Amino acid sequence: MTNDTAPTAVDVVVVGGGIGGLGNALALTRAGQRVRVLERADEFGEVGAGLQMAPNATRILRDWGVLDQVIAEGVLPKHLVMRDALDGSELTRLDLQRTQERYGAPYVVIHRSDLHRILLDACRAAGVDLVTSCGVKDVVDVDGGVEVHSPGRTDHARVALGADGLGSLLRSQLSNDEQVSSAYVAYRGAVPVEEVAEQQGIAMTDVVVYIGPRRHLVQYPLRHGEIFNQVAVFESPKALRGEEDWGTPDELDAAFAGSCPAVLSALPRLWRDRWWRMYDREPITNWRRGSLVLTGDAAHPMLQYLAQGACQAIEDAGVLAGLVSGEHARSGPGSGPDWDAALGSYVELRRPRTAEVQTTARWWGSFWHRDGAEREARNEVLRSREVDDYQHLDWLYAAR
Ligand SMILES: Cc1cc2nc3c(=O)[nH]c(=O)nc-3n(C[C@H](O)[C@H](O)[C@H](O)COP(=O)(O)OP(=O)(O)OC[C@H]3O[C@@H](n4cnc5c(N)ncnc54)[C@H](O)[C@@H]3O)c2cc1C
Repeated sequence: MTNDTAPTAVDVVVVGGGIGGLGNALALTRAGQRVRVLERADEFGEVGAGLQMAPNATRILRDWGVLDQVIAEGVLPKHLVMRDALDGSELTRLDLQRTQERYGAPYVVIHRSDLHRILLDACRAAGVDLVTSCGVKDVVDVDGGVEVHSPGRTDHARVALGADGLGSLLRSQLSNDEQVSSAYVAYRGAVPVEEVAEQQGIAMTDVVVYIGPRRHLVQYPLRHGEIFNQVAVFESPKALRGEEDWGTPDELDAAFAGSCPAVLSALPRLWRDRWWRMYDREPITNWRRGSLVLTGDAAHPMLQYLAQGACQAIEDAGVLAGLVSGEHARSGPGSGPDWDAALGSYVELRRPRTAEVQTTARWWGSFWHRDGAEREARNEVLRSREVDDYQHLDWLYAAR
C-alpha cells in the first residue's frame, strides 16, 4: 500500500548517503542549493576499515572546511613503501610528506567511519535534509525536474543524483551493463594497536604494501596510531572455477602460503567472519538522463588498487558544485543555476577522467600480482625509481 506524502520540493535529491552522496550534498549546499539525501539504511554509516585520501581529494576536503578535522582524526603517513610479499625486501618508497609541497595538499589515512561522520556532521551543520530508511525505487523525469519514488513518499526536485554505489539501481535505469568480477577478494582487520605488538615488521608511520603473486597486503595506522589497519587481497581459485562459495577463509590461508614472515604474521589479525569480493564495471558513456545523473561508485566503480574510489567520488562532488556556483550559475532574483548546462559539463569533464582511473586501477592490480619472470621484471622497475619521483602520479594528484 502506498501512502504518498509530499515532502517539500528541493533543488537536489541525492540518492545514497555514502561518502560520495554526503560529499555531493555538502558541496551543493555550500553552493547555495537546497539538498536532501535519501539513504536506504536505517542509519547513516560506513562498514569497513581505513581509507587513503590522496591530495586530489584532500584539496577538496579543505575547500569544504573539513580537512583540519580529517587530519586531526587520521594519520599523515611519511612514506608509501612497497615490499615484495615473497621475500619481504623493500622495492620502492614514495615520500608522502612532500605531496603538500608538490600538489598543495596532504596525503591522509583515516578510518572510513570517521570520514563519513565528519561529512555527516558538516552536512547537518550546513542544513542538508538527511532522510534514512528510504530505499529509492525509481526516478522519473517530469516537467522541470524529477520525481523520486520510494515506498510511502515521493520527492520532487530539479535534479537527482544517483550516489547509490556499485550495485546502483539508478545506473540500471541508464545502462544494462553488469558488475565485473575480478575474482579477487579482500579481508580487512582494523584492531587496537596493542593487538599487533607481536606482529613482525609493523611500520607505524608509513603505508606499507606487500605485493606478490595473485596476492597483496596493505597496512597502515589509523586514529593517531591507536588502530592498525590491514587489508589482505587475493585471487580466489573457486571464483575462477565459477563456484558460488568463493573467497572463504581457507582460500585466504592457501593464497598467502609461501609469503614472507611479516605477511604471514598479519593473517591472524584479519576479520574472518566477513570478506569483500572485488568488482568493478566497464566505463560507460551514459551517466545522465535528463535531470538524473550518476556520481561516485554508481558512475565509475573501480578496483581499489589506486586507492581512488572515494577520492574520485569527492572529485565528482567538487566539480559539480564548482560548475553550479561558477560557470553555470545565473544571477538575478530566484534564478537557480543552469542545471542542464551544469550536468552536461559535469559528465563531459568527469567521464574521461574517471574512465582513465578505472582502467589504470585494473592495470596496477595486474602489475602488483605478477609472478615468475614478470615479478622479477616488475621488481627491477620499482627498485630503479627514486623516493621523490612523482612523474607517474602527477596526472592523478595534481590540481586540474
Ligand atoms: C577494500 C577496499 C579498499 C578501498 N580503499 C580505498 C581507499 O583507500 N581510498 C579511496 O578513495 N577509495 C577506496 N575504496 C573505494 C571506496 O570505498 C568507494 O569508492 C566509495 O566508498 C564509494 O562511495 P559511494 O558513496 O559512491 O558508494 P557507497 O559507499 O557504496 O554508498 C552508496 C550508498 O547508497 C545507499 N543506497 C544504495 N541503494 C540505495 C537506494 N536504492 N536508495 C537509497 N540509498 C541507497 C547505500 O546504502 C550506501 O549508503 C576502497 C574499496 C574497497 C572495497
